[in-house]
Amino acid sequence: MDYDALFREQLDALKREGNYRVFAELERERGNFPRARHHRGERPADVTVWCSNDYLGMGQHPDVLAAMHEALDRCGAGAGGTRNISGTNHYHVLLEAELADLHGKEAALLFTSGYVSNWSSLSTLGARLPDAVILSDALNHASMIEGIRHARCEKRIWKHNDPRDLERHLAEIDPARPKIVAFESVYSMDGDIAPIAEIVEVAEKYGAMTYLDEVHAVGLYGPRGGGVAEELGLMDRITLIEGTLGKAFGVVGGYITGSSDLVDFLRSFASGFIFTTALPPAVAAGALASIRHLKRSEFERRRQREMVRKLRAHLDAVGIPHLPNPSHIVPVMVKDPVKCKMISDILLDDYGIYVQPINYPTVPKGTERLRFTPSPLHSDADLDRLVRALTELWSHCALSRAVA
Ligand SMILES: *Cc1c(COP(=O)(O)O)cnc(C)c1O
Repeated sequence: MDYDALFREQLDALKREGNYRVFAELERERGNFPRARHHRGERPADVTVWCSNDYLGMGQHPDVLAAMHEALDRCGAGAGGTRNISGTNHYHVLLEAELADLHGKEAALLFTSGYVSNWSSLSTLGARLPDAVILSDALNHASMIEGIRHARCEKRIWKHNDPRDLERHLAEIDPARPKIVAFESVYSMDGDIAPIAEIVEVAEKYGAMTYLDEVHAVGLYGPRGGGVAEELGLMDRITLIEGTLGKAFGVVGGYITGSSDLVDFLRSFASGFIFTTALPPAVAAGALASIRHLKRSEFERRRQREMVRKLRAHLDAVGIPHLPNPSHIVPVMVKDPVKCKMISDILLDDYGIYVQPINYPTVPKGTERLRFTPSPLHSDADLDRLVRALTELWSHCALSRAVA
């Protein structure tokens, strides 16, 4: 049996469809965000990164780095075990307390990533709650979808951001059954924001618990960076808030927060929590410093919003179409997979601008895009360079412009 031939067959199909992923090899430069070195061929090139999920540049913040250095020097590299068997470090416990406080919950639980936290929590809840039903927003992230699939309970998919459709489903379900409404606050590809108040309202009416993924909102929204639910004063009405330490907080790791009983339940039954080595203490210490900083500081959030507003205004001025939304994500629509990849390649090679093309299956066919995430550390000069480059490429590639 030629296994490699079997692998190649599927890879070739991916390439034919234009959906084969090529990674840009970057070397981030501490203290020089959003600059990085792009390794290709013999000579690395300097690039400006426009698509990082380190939304506020916290991955390079001096407080975060100092905390990580200190913890590394104190505790060494790894945690040394699963949480149950010698791996629970003091920093994990401090971080969980900080996260519970951030979301106004009784408790929190760390996972190795946001992906694992969603996968593990939803699969455990759906599998263990007797005769449960999970109601999932149609555009939920892969980590939630996989968790729900693994739960093997009944699942219903409601129309994206549509509380009326959610209600229609809830009304059909036996009131005695446990129900979990799973959704996100900020959806990362379109940058739209869920009508959380209406969804919570409907869920409460039918006695459903709510599971909210705030991965693209923590650190960024709310007076202390608690997310959109904090901004709207709704945290206490959400049963479980999930987040990541890898995006705006700039490190790595995932978590859930909720009541003591809920958290104890997942701590005790979630396989993806139990049977894996705990995060390195230095990672927990870095995340802790990042969260503490963003709880107090509005500076990064304010400056990020200003850059987002400026980028949108500049794009409007030159007629480059972007998806309007209330968030920090600026999707510039190309609507063609080949052109999308081509523009991204030219930006990288000729202009030193890195923005990854977003093609199917991450977004529906015909909605291919470049997804820009302006940060507090992009300068006005960066912005001018970007918009000038896009203007040239838009003409060069004969792409349609927005009608002013
Ligand atoms: C990135 C992402 C995750 C996974 O978080 P990681 O910490 O990167 O594993 C979960 N949910 C959503 C909506 C995401 O975009």
